[in-house]
Amino acid sequence: METSFELERIVQILKETVGRKQESVALHEPVFAGNEWVYVKECLDTGWVSSVGRFVDRFERMLAEYTGAGYAIAAVNGTAALHVALLLAGVKPGDEVIIPTMTFVATANAVVYCNAVPHLADIEPETLGLDPDKLDQYLHDIAVVNREECLNRLTGRPIRAVVPMHSFGHPVNLDKLLAVCEKYRLVLVEDAAESLGSFYKGKHTGTFGKLAALSFNGNKIVTTGGGGAILTNDPELAKLAKHLTTTAKLPHSWEYVHDRTGFNYRLPNLNAALGCAQLEQLPAFLDRKRRLADNYRAVFAGVPGVTFFTEPEGARSNYWLNVLLLDEKYADRRDDLLAATNAAGVMTRPAWTLMHRLEMYNQCPRMDLSSAEDIAGRLINIPSSANLVDK
Ligand SMILES: *Cc1c(COP(=O)(O)O)cnc(C)c1O
Repeated sequence: METSFELERIVQILKETVGRKQESVALHEPVFAGNEWVYVKECLDTGWVSSVGRFVDRFERMLAEYTGAGYAIAAVNGTAALHVALLLAGVKPGDEVIIPTMTFVATANAVVYCNAVPHLADIEPETLGLDPDKLDQYLHDIAVVNREECLNRLTGRPIRAVVPMHSFGHPVNLDKLLAVCEKYRLVLVEDAAESLGSFYKGKHTGTFGKLAALSFNGNKIVTTGGGGAILTNDPELAKLAKHLTTTAKLPHSWEYVHDRTGFNYRLPNLNAALGCAQLEQLPAFLDRKRRLADNYRAVFAGVPGVTFFTEPEGARSNYWLNVLLLDEKYADRRDDLLAATNAAGVMTRPAWTLMHRLEMYNQCPRMDLSSAEDIAGRLINIPSSANLVDK
């Protein structure tokens, strides 16, 4: 018998809010309603489909302009962008890099691609991202700053960088996190893969750290099919980012000379063409996603057992993936709710498996992760495509 947790009512509300027109509702679908065909056709007609072409440059200019970053360097995907961002932040083999345990696996993988060690940190309920106060206290307990370098006293390894992730498009508390980084001489690199269109105190996410990574995977707020970008304000780092992502080839009309082991990480023109058309529609996508979030907030207000997650104070979120949190006492009903919604044709899913529960990362150094465990245990993502509300 259902008593105060009204599972059927929640399913019904979701169906009425987003499922009226469709048999089944996806979690996040791309919308191609602009110049996609025109720009992609231009690539085919002119033969410029690969890693050189006018759309790549244009896409980078549009990204820099929209985010306010000094420079944007397009890459094949967000993971590759984060990999290069971490290398340019000075992450070296044997270093430790602080990341939230609640993130997509790419954050941890990019650290390991640098032969560094992910060091797992807890999240806070207000932002669903890194908890700066808890990190401060933890570093106070386990770290020491020695000659401008932060050392983990337990492992003897340098802690080099902090990589916050703006979960589902909700900005972390950047003011506090920057203060912690300053105090412990850590480099801030933002995993802004989910937060294109999200602002913290009026400034775009991804422009607070020394570098940041964006993603344009098929399920992100705008897509290039697959793609990513590095953001930075530093002209030298921007130049190096371009160099490293283009096989570290020295400019020459015919000679192939490379001055280090670079990467073939450049975004193809074909994908950038799609990206240009998508970025033109970003303001419209953001508007629709905000209206969808407003709808959800309204329909779930007063429904017992669940809370619709709203953007943190001081932040303007893109509402990339909407979040419904079950009350603590109904955490054990999460899987029932996932099963019932998916069976009803409304796609939902839980948060990613926490990094410290994945086999390859369960030995990583970590702090107490109880808040992430609590939140991940009662969080579900609900349908969030821009086309779920009218234009
Ligand atoms: C999407 C995403 C990435 C990058 O993903 P790609 O598929 O490589 O573009 C990185 N971190 C997070 C948190 C993401 O959600």
